[in-house]
Amino acid sequence: MLENKKVMITGGSRGIGRAMAIAMAQAGADVAVIYNGNKEAADKVCEEIRAMGRQAAAFKCDVGNFEEAGKTVQAVNKELGGLDVLVNNAGITKDGLIFTLKEDDFDRVIETNLKGAFNTIKHAAKIMMKNRKGTIINITSVSGMMGNPGQANYAAAKAGMIGLTKTVAKELAARGITCNAIAPGFVATEMTDKLSDEVKDSIDSVVPLKRMAQPEDIANAAVFLASDKASYITGEVLKVDGGLYI
Ligand code: NDP
Repeated sequence: MLENKKVMITGGSRGIGRAMAIAMAQAGADVAVIYNGNKEAADKVCEEIRAMGRQAAAFKCDVGNFEEAGKTVQAVNKELGGLDVLVNNAGITKDGLIFTLKEDDFDRVIETNLKGAFNTIKHAAKIMMKNRKGTIINITSVSGMMGNPGQANYAAAKAGMIGLTKTVAKELAARGITCNAIAPGFVATEMTDKLSDEVKDSIDSVVPLKRMAQPEDIANAAVFLASDKASYITGEVLKVDGGLYI
């Protein structure tokens, strides 16, 4: 479904990003894996992808840093020989109830999860506009649609990402570029390892499909949205949440 497409995935070193990198390579894409601190994990993903006969390269970049994001987008475009798909997946949590949440923790989450997506889109859109084609996928969260106690920073960033997605979709549609979001519910990754036992135990009662998603569940949706089969879909927020939002 993605034969020879050139894909950049932020936070491709672990969790959902890693699963998307592998699934997209399996579907025929060449992949740039962007990581922030975990080079070893990113290199491992690239090795797996090369073993499939696809091109892969790892790039260190803090997506919250505008200049770094710009340089990385340029470097990816050069290394892969193009940029067809940008996946904004890099994200962090710094949870706390509103009266204990530190200002710095609010800023850091907004900077990585929301501004990080702005930073890469701003630079990638220039390349895609020149090509008159491209696809952007933003990984948001049902937290951004429902709110979630203890996650004022995270939910605000993820809600902002939905506004960003819809606006970019409207602005860039005439240039042949689509922009969609995926909103996962609970996904089994290092991010959710940190959740309390109480929250983990509640999953059976709050998720109609009665399980956490595996990262591959999200990756399958991302492969579809990145493919030409989704070329008439833009500005959409696809929930992949086992029915959590219903
Ligand atoms: P993980 O914590 O497993 O992985 C996070 C990834 O983001 C890592 O690859 C990490 O790189 C990268 N990253 C973190 N900060 C930065 C930064 N400043 N610049 C570049 N890369 C960065 O998270 P998940 O896989 O669980 O989550 C992926 C996305 O999905 C996030 O946006 C998250 O909010 C969203 N999501 C997750 C859900 C879940 O239940 N897990 C539910 C809904 C949404 P490195 O390895 O170098 O640290």
